[in-house]
Amino acid sequence: MGEPRVSAIVLAAGSGSRLGTGAPKALLAVGGVPMVVRAVRSVAVLATEVVVAAPAGSEERVRDSLVSAGEVRIVTGGPTRQASVRAALEAVSLGCDVIVVHDAARPFATTELTATVISVVVGGDEGAVPVVAIPDTVKRVRGGQVVATEDRSELGLAQTPQAFRASVLREAHARAEAAGLDLTDDAALVEWAGHRVAVVPGEPGNFKITTVADLERAGTHG
Ligand code: C5P
Repeated sequence: MGEPRVSAIVLAAGSGSRLGTGAPKALLAVGGVPMVVRAVRSVAVLATEVVVAAPAGSEERVRDSLVSAGEVRIVTGGPTRQASVRAALEAVSLGCDVIVVHDAARPFATTELTATVISVVVGGDEGAVPVVAIPDTVKRVRGGQVVATEDRSELGLAQTPQAFRASVLREAHARAEAAGLDLTDDAALVEWAGHRVAVVPGEPGNFKITTVADLERAGTHG
């Protein structure tokens, strides 16, 4: 790949219902800055274009929050994360080589992490996902009973930003849609479609904000 053209997708179309605030989660401020702004900042400097998926009805609010974040394109997200990625993919330039997908719910990812996943794809891999180790013992549970204790040395927690060869990500989404499959991240779709996804070290501080406790942790995060 020569000089790669990188496009970024930031997913901000979740409702944040588990936070119970009533506002779109991505507009909540962490350290005085909306999560979606933080997420865009951690990818924008490395991308030639940024597409943000916003909740239906909140597109203008998301656009307004991003006035200082440079040029971004806003699209209306879908009912699931995967549908929101698909909507954003429609707006991504056909000529791009690498697509980065990042969740607005992870406001603490560094630009260095984005650069790392991009460089892995530019180096020849089809996809790259940051993964952190699981500190706890992992149980497989069924009907209130432990049925197995998993070997956690082979397990990890996936983060975003994730990067993919553009053609691979598009193909995986098209095939998943045709198969009626809905998965929780893009690496899972690309794996399912039979492609190799390389792992890079995730960042312990790059946690996802899902609950009120996560928001409180984010408020004290340095
Ligand atoms: O709900 P959860 O935090 O797991 O969502 C992960 C990311 O996907 C969030 O940044 C959220 O805004 C986004 N999302 C989306 N469209 C949906 C659901 C979630 O863009 N329908």
